[in-house]
Amino acid sequence: MKRRLLIAAALVTLSAQAQTFPGARPITIVVPYVAGGPTDRVARDLAEALRRPLGGVIIAVDNAAGAGGSIGANKVAKAAPDGHTLLLNHIGMASMPTLVRKLPFKVETDFEYLGLVNELPMTLIGRPSLAASTYKELTAWINDNTGQINLGNAGIGSASHLCGLMLQNALKVDMATVAYKGTAPALADLIGGQIDLLCDQTTYTSGQIEGRKVKAYAVTTARRLTTPALRDLPTLQESGLKGFEVTIWHGLYAPRGTPADVLAKLNTALKAALKDADFIQKQEGLGAVVMNDKRVEPAEHKKFVAAEIARWTPVLKAAGVYAD
Ligand code: ASP
Repeated sequence: MKRRLLIAAALVTLSAQAQTFPGARPITIVVPYVAGGPTDRVARDLAEALRRPLGGVIIAVDNAAGAGGSIGANKVAKAAPDGHTLLLNHIGMASMPTLVRKLPFKVETDFEYLGLVNELPMTLIGRPSLAASTYKELTAWINDNTGQINLGNAGIGSASHLCGLMLQNALKVDMATVAYKGTAPALADLIGGQIDLLCDQTTYTSGQIEGRKVKAYAVTTARRLTTPALRDLPTLQESGLKGFEVTIWHGLYAPRGTPADVLAKLNTALKAALKDADFIQKQEGLGAVVMNDKRVEPAEHKKFVAAEIARWTPVLKAAGVYAD
């Protein structure tokens, strides 16, 4: 009897929460990479765009970096399922299950999937002092310097790590990889000349490329980009790496058990944010494509992530790298 009363009381609380959600309490979007990087950029633009559809509530960004994105993701998996703590993560959602051996949660079942946010290319960039100025010159430089090349990434399991693995496989060259906690510190070291190469998302690299702070060699998408800062860059495919294609995507997630009506409100707000002209303009200026297809639907996004897990698992197992 007592248990039934408790359950009834809990249900009343949850439905009261849903009716008032989001109320005046701020919402936090957790980003599993450091501030100032490409994933952080997407989260901050999205936080702004979500604000109006969520009734003007404050939306903060919390950077919880490390362990292949699993520290931030775990924070959300374990947060109260009330819609006030969300996760913005990229393709790392699909690499974590293989790359992080002691993952303290299940990507497939410990989150409510809210929808896909955007897709964007990566760029292969080099330190400004690197002698090679074109992709062709870069391949010659790589051949002359095998065994001495440092390739940075934003951490084991990060998008830049995946891109670097694919690059080494495609070129059949081993490079020493240097893992950072996000792109912001990796890029600072690239500009400072401590590392030679980095493959990272355009949401951060396009500004550096435009400002000529780094050398830019190629984009990882199948087609060239139309973004002014990036349209002169060849694709890796046209440069000779047949079939090389990495497109990064970002999705939004809530902890498992978040009430259905709160999830519905969040998904409606996400769809409105993805139609926000300012958000679209900002993201397109950085080379990203804002989603407006069926993958913004939670069930479709979940299917999409499952397909991405299936796609990346064999690649990562073959590479044999793990984050503990
Ligand atoms: N771009 C990073 C990555 O390679 C993460 C970040 O700092 O946003 O995953």
